Amino acid sequence: MERGLYDASWLKQVSLKVAIFVWRFHHDDIYCIGGCASMESICHLLLRCDIFGNVWNKIYRWLGIYFISPDSASDHLQQLTQMAGLPRFTHSFLKVIWHACVWILWKERNYMIFNDKAQDLEQIVDNVKFVSFFWLKANSLTSAFSYSDWWRHPLICMDVME
Ligand SMILES: [Zn+2]
Repeated sequence: MERGLYDASWLKQVSLKVAIFVWRFHHDDIYCIGGCASMESICHLLLRCDIFGNVWNKIYRWLGIYFISPDSASDHLQQLTQMAGLPRFTHSFLKVIWHACVWILWKERNYMIFNDKAQDLEQIVDNVKFVSFFWLKANSLTSAFSYSDWWRHPLICMDVME
């Protein structure tokens, strides 16, 4: 028998997906898990939520940029990635950060639902820093700087890669 097929982490993932499906099935109207009292939609959760939206503000502060969030997720990705005034080679870095942030917000939401846990925004932001570095490293984009450099001065790290 293929041992990998019955790997515990694989089973865990599948059961979580099933659990999310069943949970949604039972809750036609879903309030945002952030506790902001709005109805949940993907766009609300990832961009507009008063609670989770603050993660983005912390990300902008980390990057040292001023950014006004547009209404749609695709505009948000495009405008953040192609920040006016930032050189072209920063685009792939910013794209990785955007994807890491969205992915972690989504995972955090699911974790909160099933573990009845309050959100910790600083922890979410820390995870974005870590996961984005890890993804950049997997694409050999971190050779010129360390994780602590990335943690403290992401824009300078991007500049180093020119
Ligand atoms: Zn919300």
